[in-house]
Amino acid sequence: MSDQNIKWNNKVKLVLADVDETIADVYTPAEPEMIGELTSVLEEGVVIFFVTGASLARVESRITNQIPGHLRRFTLVSHCNGAEVWGFNSEGDKKEKPFYSLYDETFSQQQKDKWREIVKQLIEEFKLSVYPATKVSEFKTMAGHNPLAVMLEDRGPQITFEFVNGYDLTPEQEKQLEMSVPQTNGALDLRIPVLERADRLFQENNIPVTPRLGGIFALDFAIKGVSKTYSVKHVLENENILESAGLSRQDLENPDHIEIWGDKFDQFRGGTDRHMCEAVNPKVRAIDFREEDPSGFLPGYNVVIWKGKYHLHHGLLEYLKSRHNK
Ligand SMILES: [Mg+2]
Repeated sequence: MSDQNIKWNNKVKLVLADVDETIADVYTPAEPEMIGELTSVLEEGVVIFFVTGASLARVESRITNQIPGHLRRFTLVSHCNGAEVWGFNSEGDKKEKPFYSLYDETFSQQQKDKWREIVKQLIEEFKLSVYPATKVSEFKTMAGHNPLAVMLEDRGPQITFEFVNGYDLTPEQEKQLEMSVPQTNGALDLRIPVLERADRLFQENNIPVTPRLGGIFALDFAIKGVSKTYSVKHVLENENILESAGLSRQDLENPDHIEIWGDKFDQFRGGTDRHMCEAVNPKVRAIDFREEDPSGFLPGYNVVIWKGKYHLHHGLLEYLKSRHNK
């Protein structure tokens, strides 16, 4: 842990980057300035591997489509928390198929359908009001402060609920609900009873899906066993994937050659970015652009908190711009 200003690492060859609130606000395109900085990082020969819970379609529309086509092959995308990894060819087009897909390899059509039925059942049982996934400000305009209003997005290999108003209830809000919400890690989090019920239904129906907390207010239904650790390890151990992005395994032996950017490393509140740390040498520097309490970090990893003027994606932008100051 360091309180000092974090300097740009000139040795870095591969960045593992979370997307939501690290590169761009949730369900929002990356800002033009961010695209400009990422483009110049790619031009400098750094490969950027986006490792996210978001869907491939959203990573494309929010980020990679804005990056010049000839540089896109130096990016990789692990979407839906590692269910699939995709790359781009030298023309900048998405490759015809993913490097791997645990969704199609693991699920029968019947299981895919049953998964959707269970989601419907949960919506009914918990009396959730469902809205399409969008910017938080737009959601709040539509849904107000109703804790039972959620955004829902079916991403194929992952289905995600966003409990924008329900992850940190006041005791008064909790009393007004028909269910009781247990105190979990210091918060009255409506996601917990939904998660527990979902887990039971998936198990009873033999659907290999694990419900888990993601982001700040997400409840992700993800394929069992997938995680950011899985996809990062898979890529780092696969010479072909690395080569398609212009890297070799030898390039990445030195921990200084890899860097992690994220905003949720806290192990007690569903911080999925810590799973990137678990896939690499613990000495690899991970920059946390959220001012999290370090007591929630996994011990033994090199997670440092960005101490700039800004945080989250604006903190990353500040960090990227700091490269030009020397
Ligand atoms: Mg994030």
